Amino acid sequence: MRTVSTDVLVIGGGATGVGVLRDLALRGIRAVLVEKGDLTHGTTGRYHGLLHSGGRYVVKDPQSATECAHENEILRRIMPHCLEDTGGFFVVTPADDESYAPRFVQGCRDTGVPVNEITVREALRREPLLNPRIKRAFVVPDASVDVWKLVWALAGGAAAHGARVLTYHRVIGVRREGDEVCGARLRNELSGEEIDVEAGFVLNASGAWAAQILHTADITDVGVVPGKGIMIAMNHRLVNTVINRLAMPGDGDILVPIRTVSVIGTTDIHAHDPDEIPVTQHEVDQMMDDGERLVPGFREARALRVWAGVRPLFQDARAGEVKETRDVSRTHAVVDHRARDGVSGLLTMSGGKLTTFRMMAQDLVDAMEKQTGDQRPCQTQRVRPPGNEDATSYRLGSRLARREETLQDEPLICECELIGRRRLEEEMRRRGNASLDDIRRSLRLGMGPCQGGFCMYRATGILHEVERLDAEQAATSLLDFLEERWKGVYPILYGDQLRQARFDDWVFQGLLDVEHLGAGT
Ligand SMILES: Cc1cc2nc3c(=O)[nH]c(=O)nc-3n(C[C@H](O)[C@H](O)[C@H](O)COP(=O)(O)OP(=O)(O)OC[C@H]3O[C@@H](n4cnc5c(N)ncnc54)[C@H](O)[C@@H]3O)c2cc1C
Repeated sequence: MRTVSTDVLVIGGGATGVGVLRDLALRGIRAVLVEKGDLTHGTTGRYHGLLHSGGRYVVKDPQSATECAHENEILRRIMPHCLEDTGGFFVVTPADDESYAPRFVQGCRDTGVPVNEITVREALRREPLLNPRIKRAFVVPDASVDVWKLVWALAGGAAAHGARVLTYHRVIGVRREGDEVCGARLRNELSGEEIDVEAGFVLNASGAWAAQILHTADITDVGVVPGKGIMIAMNHRLVNTVINRLAMPGDGDILVPIRTVSVIGTTDIHAHDPDEIPVTQHEVDQMMDDGERLVPGFREARALRVWAGVRPLFQDARAGEVKETRDVSRTHAVVDHRARDGVSGLLTMSGGKLTTFRMMAQDLVDAMEKQTGDQRPCQTQRVRPPGNEDATSYRLGSRLARREETLQDEPLICECELIGRRRLEEEMRRRGNASLDDIRRSLRLGMGPCQGGFCMYRATGILHEVERLDAEQAATSLLDFLEERWKGVYPILYGDQLRQARFDDWVFQGLLDVEHLGAGT
């Protein structure tokens, strides 16, 4: 069996794990990250897209609010290229209790969240589709995040300092020698090969799956309460500012403009298994009703896609109580298994938010250094990851402006997301595997209104050529992609998106007979 040796093994390729990897690399510590799927495969690739100002938590969870405000400022400085500076509004809709507003303002003051009231008229001038019956409006520094860009930038930054990333490698067992963790056994999910990792320390950043990892180390009484939330992407920017309802955190109370879409979310339902998070019709209806409160006419707008993610909300099973998921604090904590379980060489990150991933990574690595007796200072609050040379945040029109410069030079493969052939081929070569879904995550391929209807057969042909696939492999790749997309489309089929799905079906079933493509060739 092949063995890989490293100083630190990081488990989990979401924002937290990749943030940890980069932090370690910048401190000069040898590290390997393993992820059972692609990077962002878990909650990070399925979240709402908001860089919190902290406003959401100022009354209910002040510590989280202060952490968000602090990290919001740092991320704007070190990785603006992964953010769109949309700004955010908190608005009192007719359904909200007006007495919450003074508590909110006081909470912002107490927790350091910048806030500024504007007139309703001004709010409506800036956001003409916003509910005209809102009673008050406050401006906060919310932003939206291109999470794929953020995670690749962090991974690139870590690799530039010698760190390694092994995607499609699942931890099947944490290895222990007595009371000491000394590595893990992995399985390569693509080839089936098993590999041993010898590591001086293991950092568990596997989010909602953390308890599963701990069980393999015989630590069985840690509880993760997966809090499921669904989100629906509407096919255009109904608003250009993040819109939050001015109320205690609840369901469907935030609308986030990201790239060319706006995303309404979310719910918070106790799930039993982080891999079993189906979207129900009831939740979809609830989100559409909630959207209607913020933007009248929301229900008539075109819904593109729905998906669900799971919050990694920790509760110590020894405490014996299970709270409602919405009542579990959003702040993070390092679980020290030496102090808690008598097992050294292992720490777990619990809870947290995408907005605070950098701080979470710093706290985890600091806690490790405390155990190992080292003192290499964290660098991540000041070192900028690559891809950020002009130090500006992206704008809605950025892709179009870039595309217009090379309009005549190459064919466009994905019209919705403006992806040219050269960029697509480059990414396929860089990825070096046959997954169109991985390419989607890197480039946003097939994520626009046609949901792959026009670009995926072209992309499959190009993949066939670039990766030298045979017809069967190429067809399998296309089918896998379509099946994955279908999961997010069928629960919201109505109106124009139903027409689009019917059209796509004619392309793939009618013209290409996709289910029999490649068979016997
Ligand atoms: C519905 C919803 C909306 C949210 N909205 C926001 C928001 O707007 N703003 C915000 O700041 N935060 C938000 N959050 C919270 C945020 O998304 C998460 O806190 C964050 O993405 C978690 O990142 P992570 O890296 O800790 O976990 P993950 O991204 O889940 O990463 C853990 C990784 O571990 C991997 N893994 C699991 N088991 C194994 C194994 N055996 N071997 C190898 N790898 C394994 C998984 O595949 C996964 O990729 C939201 C969360 C949800 C659910």
